[in-house]
Amino acid sequence: MVSLSLRFCSLLALVPLAAVGSVIPRADAYDYIVVGGGSAGSIIASRLSENSSVSVLVIEGGPSHEGEVDLTIPYVYPRTFRSRFDWNYTTVPQPNLGNRPGIYLRGHVLGGSSSINGMTLNRAPASDWDKIASYTGDSSFRWDAILPYIKKNEGFNRPPNTPEYANTYDPAVHGFNADKIGNTLVTDGNWISQPALQAATEVGINYVRDVNGGLPVGISWQQFSTKDGSRSSAATAYLNAGILSSRTNLKVLLNAFVTRLLPVSGTDLKFTTVEYKDASGNTVTVSARREVILSAGVMSTPIILMRSGLGPRAHLQANNITTILDIPAVGQNLQDRCGAAAVWSVNATDTDDDIDRNPAVFNRWLNQWNQNHTGRLTQMSYRQMIFGRVPNNASIFSGGFQDPSSGPTCPHYELYPANKWTSPTTPQPATGNFVSMNIFVSASNVRGTVTLDPTNPLTGNPVIDPKYLSSEWDRYVMRDAVRTSVHYFNAPAWKKWNATPVFDTAILNSDAALDAWISSSAFGGVHGVGTARMGPANSPAGQDVVAPNFKVKGVSGLRIADTSVFPFVINGHTMGATYAIAEKVSDLIKSGN
Ligand SMILES: Cc1cc2nc3c(=O)[nH]c(=O)nc-3n(C[C@H](O)[C@H](O)[C@H](O)COP(=O)(O)OP(=O)(O)OC[C@H]3O[C@@H](n4cnc5c(N)ncnc54)[C@H](O)[C@@H]3O)c2cc1C
Repeated sequence: MVSLSLRFCSLLALVPLAAVGSVIPRADAYDYIVVGGGSAGSIIASRLSENSSVSVLVIEGGPSHEGEVDLTIPYVYPRTFRSRFDWNYTTVPQPNLGNRPGIYLRGHVLGGSSSINGMTLNRAPASDWDKIASYTGDSSFRWDAILPYIKKNEGFNRPPNTPEYANTYDPAVHGFNADKIGNTLVTDGNWISQPALQAATEVGINYVRDVNGGLPVGISWQQFSTKDGSRSSAATAYLNAGILSSRTNLKVLLNAFVTRLLPVSGTDLKFTTVEYKDASGNTVTVSARREVILSAGVMSTPIILMRSGLGPRAHLQANNITTILDIPAVGQNLQDRCGAAAVWSVNATDTDDDIDRNPAVFNRWLNQWNQNHTGRLTQMSYRQMIFGRVPNNASIFSGGFQDPSSGPTCPHYELYPANKWTSPTTPQPATGNFVSMNIFVSASNVRGTVTLDPTNPLTGNPVIDPKYLSSEWDRYVMRDAVRTSVHYFNAPAWKKWNATPVFDTAILNSDAALDAWISSSAFGGVHGVGTARMGPANSPAGQDVVAPNFKVKGVSGLRIADTSVFPFVINGHTMGATYAIAEKVSDLIKSGN
């Protein structure tokens, strides 16, 4: 059972109340201050504080994760959306999504987005890492060099030794550190796995033994960041109550909203002071003796930089912020993975539809989870995933168009079949059983923006414009992925289950009709990267934000480590890749680099 007793012996008491508007400098100082106790920040703080002679402060905007059932039971994770555990961001209206604004989910809790996300554990194809190494000129980002960090972060749970799970993973690419992030294959033998795998064979999709082996194109078994039937997050593994109570050199400040970083007086460009608003609305400052590590995520990191005078000069001027260093790349280069869901009815009865619409069925599974952390609520509704590529001879490639992916073994799109209705744009019917294909454009070449709220630059939400599907390439990939999905569900393996589309497949007959369906069905992704991107150590000022050692170019005392630093979209889900760079930057800092 989830323990409801909160034990945060080392959480700091908030500073005393003061008049709003005055600034309260804290008397204490720390060697390192980590801004944002999220997926990356939790790991960095935990790793740095392994050295008891080093003091570390984490400043996190959200509450604790401890004892929160909705953050613990895997299946119910969507309950956290638009809750107090979400920053409640919204994108600007997206012209290619029927001019709808989208919700942009981000974790507002210790563990960050790893505390509310869908737990699919990917680590990006090998060629993505090799491309980052090539772009930055730093070979330590190559797949072979990153793999040890991935393993260091992982506690892989071996599936049962039964024929069904023979050949479902490759132990050589996994870490087995039981106290780190759990990684679990689905092991429930649900009916959907048989047709899902057989249909792939029938339509020529190859079987991939391990989705996380660096070569994911094909169909493979999903891996999830769960452990013993519960979510395993950066917070549960790296900043849990046991670690916090045993390390007097590690402090976590919760419900504290970081507004900006301040240059050290007397120096122009050393940023080791953090300004935040505490839970009572007081403005407080605290300083790091060595470094500040900014890990506030792909939306907040660029906003905090801009509020600190580090960003595109014209945009800062327009918001009455004095530019300390003109860095045009801050808030630019936002890349994400747009999604859609297509649904088929089936004559199978063992889908998850009734869990979602019938409280009695849900409660039966909840009782089982409460008893021994087993059953349907230990996992999501998908078991396999397909990574695919647009064919080499596709018309989009004629006329010299360059494939934006990281190479021939990199996916262009991702599909995963679910054993229930998953379309968020059409309500689930009151009766019936369904399977859905969740469809994501992966190797996007669109670049969006994150900018300040002009009505409230200091504390307002980021203005998010991902520009979903605004390139012909992204629209082409989405169309190809939808057509592939229909082809897949037309395979003989699904006939036994009478898989019947609940949408009009005539949309496939013309690109215009398909685009119209996509425009009304697509939704924003949750895998944003690139808003404080990493580049070569010697790239021109302002082109990139951080150097390969994660230090912000042109200033001292400040590193950035979170999804904002990835220079390109990650062709898989982003959590695993974020964990890898968090382990890497921790090592760099610990070794004095
Ligand atoms: C709903 C959802 C589902 C997802 N599903 C998956 C999935 O299944 N698999 C996968 O791999 N990826 C998934 N992702 C994406 C993945 O979780 C993120 O890309 C990744 O966790 C981001 O890590 P991060 O460290 O960059 O940021 P975060 O983990 O978001 O951490 C940022 C932290 O900074 C804090 N913060 C932000 N601003 C401030 C401020 N001003 N002051 C103080 N603190 C602040 C936040 O509260 C948060 O704790 C999902 C994301 C979401 C939101």
